[in-house]
Amino acid sequence: MANMSNRQSYLAKQDANKKSRQAAGLVSDKFPNVEGMVIDMVYYQNLSNPILMYRKLNVFPASYAYFKMDCMIKECEDGFFDLGPVIKEMVKGRKKAGKGSMKCKGGVNRKELGPDHASIDYDIEIKYYTAAEARRIQAELAATKAAKESEPVKPVKPAKPQRPEPKAVQEHPKRKKALKEAARAASKKAAAKKAAPKKAAPKKAAPKKAAPKKAAPKKAAPKKAAPKKAAPKKTAPKKKAARR
Ligand SMILES: [Zn+2]
Repeated sequence: MANMSNRQSYLAKQDANKKSRQAAGLVSDKFPNVEGMVIDMVYYQNLSNPILMYRKLNVFPASYAYFKMDCMIKECEDGFFDLGPVIKEMVKGRKKAGKGSMKCKGGVNRKELGPDHASIDYDIEIKYYTAAEARRIQAELAATKAAKESEPVKPVKPAKPQRPEPKAVQEHPKRKKALKEAARAASKKAAAKKAAPKKAAPKKAAPKKAAPKKAAPKKAAPKKAAPKKAAPKKTAPKKKAARR
């Protein structure tokens, strides 16, 4: 019975921890200018052998911004060391390094656990993005988010450079015309300069479709069906076009 309830409380704690981590959000959201952190900790217990363990934590932008470390003393069920406020202060001041120690304040209902039953020393290093990097990352995140919202299935980065052919979006006829004229003018200019054939695209050479070097696969991999891509929408030819 005792075992069972121990296990249950352990599982409940794990579950609660997981939820708290998720609720904390990501480092990239909470601290967008942080490129990474390294947190070194030494856990002490107030016994004859005071060092309980060493722990090193690498934190990345994709990590949860959760810095509440459980007290490792078995009997201490509600104790923790919360480095969150320390880290928040450091980031606020763009500090690169910080050291300190902290006592566990849990276990108050346990007589055998004195107020000094556990502590940690911590040593935190934080690496920051430069302002320019931070801006670029923010812009990328915003773009990714926008893309996700409008089209949840599509990969964010197109694998190949795409021709700026209007897809689903219908260009305004006036804009279409303007674009055409601009293109014509550009190609004229280019033609005048180089006396090149008209069709040569002005600047960007069409991306070479690097032919796969490997000879055609023999029998290999008939299994993988090509990932289902939404078939390109065939937009019905616009009737208004007849006017031109
Ligand atoms: Zn404790």
